[in-house]
Amino acid sequence: MQINVAQMLKQGIGSSYSYRIKPPLTGEEAEHSVSGEVELIRTDKGVLVRGTLYTQRSLVCSRCLRIFDYPIIINIDDEYLPLTDEQQGIPLYITEDSEGFTIDQFNVLDLTKAVSQYTLFNTPINPLCHPDCAGLCPKCGADLNQSRCSCAQGTGKRSDLIKI
Ligand SMILES: [Zn+2]
Ligand SMILES: [Zn+2]
Repeated sequence: MQINVAQMLKQGIGSSYSYRIKPPLTGEEAEHSVSGEVELIRTDKGVLVRGTLYTQRSLVCSRCLRIFDYPIIINIDDEYLPLTDEQQGIPLYITEDSEGFTIDQFNVLDLTKAVSQYTLFNTPINPLCHPDCAGLCPKCGADLNQSRCSCAQGTGKRSDLIKI
C-alpha cells in the first residue's frame, strides 16, 4: 500500500486523484488483504487521504472458540505530511514517530501504518462468530452451534440454525 506521490506534491493545492487498492488474488497475502479506493488531495502542507478500505481479520469467537473471518471497514481521513521539502530537498524535521502520518524522503506515502492502526481499533474485544452464537456447553464443551449434546439444559434451541 505504498503510493509514490512525487508528482502529486508538485501540483497545486486541491488537485486530486483516486487510487484503487486491489487485493492479490491468491496466496497467503490474499487472506488479510486490503481493498478499496482512496482519494488523494493535495493540501497546502501535504496530501489528504480519504476513502474507505475493506479488510478482514481471523479472530477467535469468544463464545465457541471457532476461528472466523471478521470483516473490517476502515474509514480513512488523514493528512500525510512530507518529511522533505520537495522543491528544495530540505528535511522538514517531522520525525517518523510524530503523531501524524508522514510521506518519506522518497515521496512514498505508505498506508500500511494507518490500516493496521484502524484495523486494531475496529477489532472487537470479545468477538462473536455470529451475533447469537450458541457457544460451548459449559459441561461437556460441545460446540452448540454444531450439535446438541446430551447434557441436561440450555441446549436444543439452536437446531433450526444448523440445517443449511
Ligand atoms: Zn461462536
Ligand atoms: Zn454438554
